[in-house]
Amino acid sequence: MSAVIMDGKALGLKIREGVKEKASALKEKGITPCLAVILVGEDPASLSYVKSKEKALHEAGMESRDIRLPEKTSEDQLLSIIADLNNDEKVHGILVQSPVPKHISEEKVNQAVSPKKDVDCFHPESVGNMVLGRQGFFPCTPHGVLMLLREYDIPVAGAHVVVIGRSNIVGKPMANLLIRREYNATVTLCHTGTKDLKAFTLQADIVIAAAGSPGMIKPDMIKDGAVVIDVGINRVSDTSAPKGYRLCGDADPAVMRKCSFFTPVPGGVGPMTIAMLLNNVIEASNKFEKKI
Ligand code: NDP
Repeated sequence: MSAVIMDGKALGLKIREGVKEKASALKEKGITPCLAVILVGEDPASLSYVKSKEKALHEAGMESRDIRLPEKTSEDQLLSIIADLNNDEKVHGILVQSPVPKHISEEKVNQAVSPKKDVDCFHPESVGNMVLGRQGFFPCTPHGVLMLLREYDIPVAGAHVVVIGRSNIVGKPMANLLIRREYNATVTLCHTGTKDLKAFTLQADIVIAAAGSPGMIKPDMIKDGAVVIDVGINRVSDTSAPKGYRLCGDADPAVMRKCSFFTPVPGGVGPMTIAMLLNNVIEASNKFEKKI
């Protein structure tokens, strides 16, 4: 069997085109969607993430409020900046790039962002709405996975989905979204405490790997015809690569022999995350429009 490669780059671009049209319609009503992007410190990887988010916003005709703060910024200073942005009618979404420096509580930061502007879906109220099946923001990466499954007409309702990883950003929300009635999957959530991972993955119609462990999903862990969604983005050293490293996922590409659909790394789930972030900024701006 040879797997269909799921093209997240193409779908991400398609979604971004749709976002651009929606942004333009909002602008005609006098609302320019705007995301405040806060970076504390100078971590190069974080800086590159925020720059790519800001570039994507501009390409979609939206604004970014770029806020760069020194590493020594106190927790109180950051919380006060967030409070000001919560009250700023020109800002529709707020994103604080993680990780924040160790002296700042990530939990307090997440709770400080108004749920109305919580485009990352990290506030406990946003998470609660998602778990309770209520309306609200969906977290970007898991939402991107759901969009990819829909684009390729992969049945999710009634499917057995094995999610590997229980982080608050990917694994937990992924599992919670999949069990909402509109998706109706049967979910097994695995983590490092799972005794025999292979026994579970072999039963899966869809495996979603979000462990951050390069190549851990091997062909003998996948049943014939299963779908493998690889969320992992891992740097592995490669002296032949210009930067001395290359990116790889959590699945060994050899699984393509066994599965029906497969997401590549890079070019699979990664581009979907940013597309769904832009989509959430539009959603936040729409809510603002309804309010005025
Ligand atoms: P975390 O490190 O926060 O979580 C990893 C999870 O995987 C943990 O729950 C851990 O279990 C579990 N895990 C790790 N190794 C194993 C194993 N061998 N067997 C079973 N479970 C395991 O990572 P994130 O969720 O933030 O990210 C996961 C991956 O996804 C990373 O590679 C990251 O770079 C990538 N990522 C990609 C995004 C995208 O846009 N495509 C967005 C966000 C992340 P335990 O809880 O027991 O420690």
